[in-house]
Amino acid sequence: MNTIHKGQCLCGDVEFETPAPSHIDACHCKMCQTWTGSIFIGADFREGITITNDKGLTWYESSEWAKRGFCQTCGSSLFYCLKDNNNFWAVAAGCLDLPTSTTLNKEIFIDEKPNYYTLAGDHSRQTGAEFLATLSLDTNND
Ligand SMILES: [Zn+2]
Ligand SMILES: [Zn+2]
Repeated sequence: MNTIHKGQCLCGDVEFETPAPSHIDACHCKMCQTWTGSIFIGADFREGITITNDKGLTWYESSEWAKRGFCQTCGSSLFYCLKDNNNFWAVAAGCLDLPTSTTLNKEIFIDEKPNYYTLAGDHSRQTGAEFLATLSLDTNND
């Protein structure tokens, strides 16, 4: 369980290490589509992320509650973080050295997904409203 995964942006100006992710989620919301060019597939973490090189790391406040980290040198989309809940990070799965056997746990904002792609697999699919309802549940449980 002590597996350390290494991640980096395209050019290497941002490098990081993570534990094994608990979940891999795909977000189809229009903001993620715009941010990445298609879809954001994130490995979710509550702790354990170490940024080992932040030379290119830049943050964009994409909403009142979230910020997105990217590399200012090469443009890689890297991190989605909740500002009021700094222990939640979604790290771009494609930037991590995860094995190709890694599977997807959930798709969110399925109602904003365009028809030109579909992700295979038998996993949970939530609309934006359904997903946001689970977030407020989490908040109530804090
Ligand atoms: Zn870079
Ligand atoms: Zn999204």
